[in-house]
Amino acid sequence: ATPTALMVGTGRGAKMGILIKNGEVLEKVNDVDTVVFDKTGTITVGKPEVTDIVGDEKQVLSLAARLEAGSEHPLALAILAEAKKQQIDLASVKDFQAVSGKGVQATIDNQRAFVGNNRLLDDASITDELNLRMKQLQKEAKTVVLVGQQKQVIGLIAIQDTPKETSAKAIAALKSRGLKTIMLTGDNKQVAQAIADEVGIDEVIAEVLPAEKADKIHELQKNSTVAFVGDGINDAPALTTADVGVAMGSGTDIAIDAGGIVLVKNDLRDVDTALALSKKTFGRIK
Ligand code: ADP
Ligand code: MG
Repeated sequence: ATPTALMVGTGRGAKMGILIKNGEVLEKVNDVDTVVFDKTGTITVGKPEVTDIVGDEKQVLSLAARLEAGSEHPLALAILAEAKKQQIDLASVKDFQAVSGKGVQATIDNQRAFVGNNRLLDDASITDELNLRMKQLQKEAKTVVLVGQQKQVIGLIAIQDTPKETSAKAIAALKSRGLKTIMLTGDNKQVAQAIADEVGIDEVIAEVLPAEKADKIHELQKNSTVAFVGDGINDAPALTTADVGVAMGSGTDIAIDAGGIVLVKNDLRDVDTALALSKKTFGRIK
């Protein structure tokens, strides 16, 4: 394409709220055959809410909220909002520690207390009953966090985040172009699959630690040209590794910097619009 055609292409994108960093990015979009999506905040709204508390509700919620007070994770915000709604006071904790992709822990009454997924259990145990409840809730597309102290899980909190209204349409548009769609998330397999089914995503790669997201992209690149769409700080390495990194405009500054394309309107359908734009600019000339 001529420099003029490139300027026309990126200019047209900008008018539609699709910021494309340069002509090279626009050209690369034309080669993409696989689109990988982060889940929370990208496919889903990213404002999860507490739906179920299993165990002694007040005790479970107050322990979890005390621990989550130091975290800015969307799951933490959901738990804190519920605690506020129930007017629970948050006593402070010692040795607060956020464990990436797992949860948070701290010392309470000289014992380790924790809230997070089962990778955070260590030597703590969970009853068969709670384990069963956890699996049931996960089948309902709810993210379940375990709340524990003194080497025992004392309860569960189920948290639900719903897909954005436009996610299913966006996925359908990409699939009708013959592209493969994949979800890449740190969340549990069952939950990720339930949400993938709701929006029609082809494949799920779940329970991936934040540090491993870029490695997974790299693996996929052996056989495909990959676009990655994400919004979080965690997503930055995957955004730069992908052939085309697409950041949501509502995402963190770090994600936006890492992206070659920014979707100002946070509308996933704009991934398909960017593809159409690239095809128009480059498609016929090759
Ligand atoms: P995603 O890829 O969906 O953005 P993350 O990598 O941020 O997910 O988190 C993965 C998983 O780690 C969560 O589903 C949850 O089980 C656990 N987790 C992370 N941070 C927290 C927290 N502050 N409180 C509870 N659980 C957490
Ligand atoms: Mg996210």
